[in-house]
Amino acid sequence: MRQVSTDVLVVGAGGAGMYAAISAARQGASVLLLDKSLVGRGGATIMAQMTVAAALGQEEPDDCATHLKDTLEAGRGLCNEDLSALLCYDGPERILEMEEWGTRWARTGDRIRQEIAPGHSRKRCCYVDFLNTGPAVAATLRRKVSELAAVRRLSNIAVVDLIIKDGRAIGAIGVNLAEGELVTCHAKAIILAAGGLTKLYERNSASSNMGGEAYALALWAGAELIDMEFVQFFPIGHLAPRLVGMDPIMWDPFRYKLGGKLLNGSFVEFVDRYGAVDSGKYTATRDIAAYAILKEVEAGRGTPHGGAYLDFRHIPEAQLRAAFGPVIDRLLANGIDLTKTPVEVGPTAHYHMGGIQVNARMETCIQGLYAAGEAVGGANGANRLSGNAITEAFVFGARAGACAGKHAKTMQENGDESGDPKLMAVALDRIASMPPRGAKRGTAPVALQAELQKLMWEKAGPFRTGEKLSQALRRIREMREQELPDLEIASQGTFNMDIQDWFELRAMLTTAEAVVTSALSRTESRGAHQREDYPNPDPLYLRNQVLRLKNGALISSWVTPVRLAAGLPRNG
Ligand SMILES: Cc1cc2nc3c(=O)[nH]c(=O)nc-3n(C[C@H](O)[C@H](O)[C@H](O)COP(=O)(O)OP(=O)(O)OC[C@H]3O[C@@H](n4cnc5c(N)ncnc54)[C@H](O)[C@@H]3O)c2cc1C
Repeated sequence: MRQVSTDVLVVGAGGAGMYAAISAARQGASVLLLDKSLVGRGGATIMAQMTVAAALGQEEPDDCATHLKDTLEAGRGLCNEDLSALLCYDGPERILEMEEWGTRWARTGDRIRQEIAPGHSRKRCCYVDFLNTGPAVAATLRRKVSELAAVRRLSNIAVVDLIIKDGRAIGAIGVNLAEGELVTCHAKAIILAAGGLTKLYERNSASSNMGGEAYALALWAGAELIDMEFVQFFPIGHLAPRLVGMDPIMWDPFRYKLGGKLLNGSFVEFVDRYGAVDSGKYTATRDIAAYAILKEVEAGRGTPHGGAYLDFRHIPEAQLRAAFGPVIDRLLANGIDLTKTPVEVGPTAHYHMGGIQVNARMETCIQGLYAAGEAVGGANGANRLSGNAITEAFVFGARAGACAGKHAKTMQENGDESGDPKLMAVALDRIASMPPRGAKRGTAPVALQAELQKLMWEKAGPFRTGEKLSQALRRIREMREQELPDLEIASQGTFNMDIQDWFELRAMLTTAEAVVTSALSRTESRGAHQREDYPNPDPLYLRNQVLRLKNGALISSWVTPVRLAAGLPRNG
């Protein structure tokens, strides 16, 4: 087994992880940046093509307090206001820093261009032309990371467990996916920046790396999760025709710039029937649009791929081109002519508002264990504004890196722990439940993953009931306890996908159970959590739900949301 050691271990190299690595290195710490995919190319960050929200005030007067007000309003009373404030107040500095490092935000003359987006009261969302925001910021951070000698990068390493000693995080165990071998890493501080959980759902907008592993790793280590029921479903994710190399949620700006008709499978407008005035402008809110589409599909009036048509045929080509010039050509290259053909869209799992519970220093309740980016819960409450997620990744990454770097510096050298055979044995014991390679069992891990995704979509998706959630919970526990230890793992040593899939599934099942358990307990509808059996918000539930593991069982408790502290948490 290969052993490595570092001051700060960063798990996950998306926007948050790379920012955290840079920031920890600035503190003088040595950093190991691990990713199960290729560093800087694996997660949601590189897929995001739209906008980043920050109160730069370049198009019209704006300030961080107004951004915060909009964020808190969207969060429907559940935001951790310290975290929301951090996001809004540090956002502009991060955006300008990214520009210094080479990101070319779209500009008009000497002003960074900023657009309005739903829920924002000001033109606040900047971007890189054309649909290039995520790839551009990922490239900037990759370049910056590669310039820092203090940051070592390792790709193809999936972290599968953390090592905890006396309530303190001291290391991690990873699987080298290329060679099939275990790697242990001793660290003085660990940052979980392994992104969100949308892979739990059959229909999702994200990369295949979003299995919710950060949440499971945190739970197993003894940390707490918050508001796991709040999965954001984007109502008009792209379903068909095939769209290569473009963002599946790209239709949002088309919606608010141009308007577009939502039509059912019989080409009839239907959203007005579900309590919204849509009338060709597509102004219905996300929750009503998602509900209306799913209800039409349920009634047998969906499109061939199980959604609705989004139709721009009433808009002249000149107007489409004026608004989205080169994007229209990229669509044409995909065989999509918006003047002739409507596209099929439908709700899709897109982002997770819940996550690891941290304070404003990004610390969990386990000493030395930090989190950053989408893995963190609370900043966006029950509902996230568009553009806030990339800002969150930069801001929380920078903060986590700074705090973890300082923590590592204050720690005594404790080199002998890395080789502590007892600790290693305990951690290795936990992961030894993987079935032996090469034994014939019949079902591959990926097959159970597919079943889990279907189950989550059907029973814990955009619209939930107590009955469906209970069915999901029973099946998830059965899968975890009875079927996970008995799956078939191919015998090959290198690039054995069954090993990757098995460890991922192990985490997915824990995270799915956390989502479903939380969704069952919250008997109200609020923001992204919609219960058909409890259709209204209930003031009793103006609270955050905290989950932790006790003797292998998930325990839920309720706390009052963190309200804005008198002094904003600045500069670590
Ligand atoms: C298609 C799409 C479009 C989006 N558009 C926007 C937008 O326009 N504006 C906006 O603000 N937000 C947008 N978002 C959301 C935003 O992109 C994400 O919330 C944000 O980028 C998350 O950054 P992150 O660094 O926390 O996670 P990620 O960028 O997802 O990175 C997480 C990394 O962790 C790695 N990882 C996972 N598990 C492990 C493990 N066990 N061991 C090691 N590594 C692991 C993954 O491979 C990945 O590289 C979009 C998301 C998607 C999917």
